[in-house]
Amino acid sequence: QVCTGILSSSDTGKKTTALSLNSIINLDHGDPTMFEPYWRNLGEKCKLVISGSDVMSYFSDPGNICWFLEPKLANAIRVLHRLVGNAVAEDRHILVGTGSTQLFQAALFALSTPDAPEPISVVSTAPYYSSFKEEVEFLRSGLYKWQGDAKTFHKEGPYIEVVTSPSNPDGTIRRAVVNREGGKLIHDLAYYWPQYTPITGAADHDVILFTFSKCTGHAGSRIGWAIVKDEQVARRMTKFMELSSIGVSKESQLRAAKILEVLNAGLQNGSGSENFFEYGRHIMAKRWFELRYIVKSNSKIFGLPEYPVEFCNFSKGTTIAHPAFAWLESKQDEDIEKLLRAHKMLCRTGTRFGSEQKYVRISMLSRDEVFDEFLERLAAIKGGTENQ
Ligand code: PMP
Repeated sequence: QVCTGILSSSDTGKKTTALSLNSIINLDHGDPTMFEPYWRNLGEKCKLVISGSDVMSYFSDPGNICWFLEPKLANAIRVLHRLVGNAVAEDRHILVGTGSTQLFQAALFALSTPDAPEPISVVSTAPYYSSFKEEVEFLRSGLYKWQGDAKTFHKEGPYIEVVTSPSNPDGTIRRAVVNREGGKLIHDLAYYWPQYTPITGAADHDVILFTFSKCTGHAGSRIGWAIVKDEQVARRMTKFMELSSIGVSKESQLRAAKILEVLNAGLQNGSGSENFFEYGRHIMAKRWFELRYIVKSNSKIFGLPEYPVEFCNFSKGTTIAHPAFAWLESKQDEDIEKLLRAHKMLCRTGTRFGSEQKYVRISMLSRDEVFDEFLERLAAIKGGTENQ
């Protein structure tokens, strides 16, 4: 039995949870269910009624480059970035995608050249987000080709570098490393939100990707957005989404807009609801404190990265990163994914991220009962796989 924390749900929508000692806990995906209690506590505030005759058209804003983007969502996104201070969104093209996953592929399409003699190279510093490699290679495109770790990339010619900051899997702050002429950059800032990392400035890059999934935890809505400087790139990205899905669900966009409006109102302190990011930061800090305590008491077996203390412009104080994933290291150079699996914990091995099997990526965003059970099982490990 694989357990994500929910074993049954009643008619009222309330979740009942239970974990048995024998259940396998899945911390492989970064499914952000941890934020459910916050949104549940807001009760009806985020409720949205959509009638049968609403949003029937393919179109949302025919005059806009991204003609399927709901203006309410674009507006809520701009206000959010202004309030958080994590990205420049004024006077930039905002594009909506079915998750930032679709926008990443749209950006690859937009930044490649159809009649180039060979596919453009795509690189990212290892350990990189495992899906980049998989998405680039999946359709065996003639437009672009995965070339792996940006640190060891020396091929001449045009290239696309994907910069994920903070990084998934290891939470570090990243910058472009290749820095050669002909380079094009995609900045994936999925985790550049105050609950995960100090906000040190407003990002202002050519193509920036954000996702509703990691911002508020609403991964199921499948909403992502891109902030794009160049009009032609924005047009080509929009073309990709037009051809792959003729736009993005209006119901999802309206729900995302509503939730972001409530979130924004909370940040402006007008609505009486708690500041979502402070709430998130508090829980992440607590989880990281607990995890570090267990790892420190077992420091011959496990290790974790350390993060610098920095001033966060959003929180107006010094803070430290509490990443969405723990990049756990085996101090005994073991296959740590195998070790955790032997203790009924599923996590993603370092090799999937272009790294080594002595590392594993563990989601920090699961429901409380799953996280607590994970800590207990981790604390119980006293030796290597040979001791099982
Ligand atoms: N980029 C990064 C770095 C991610 O971690 C994820 C989700 N795991 C995504 C993109 C995809 O997000 P979405 O749910 O919006 O497709």
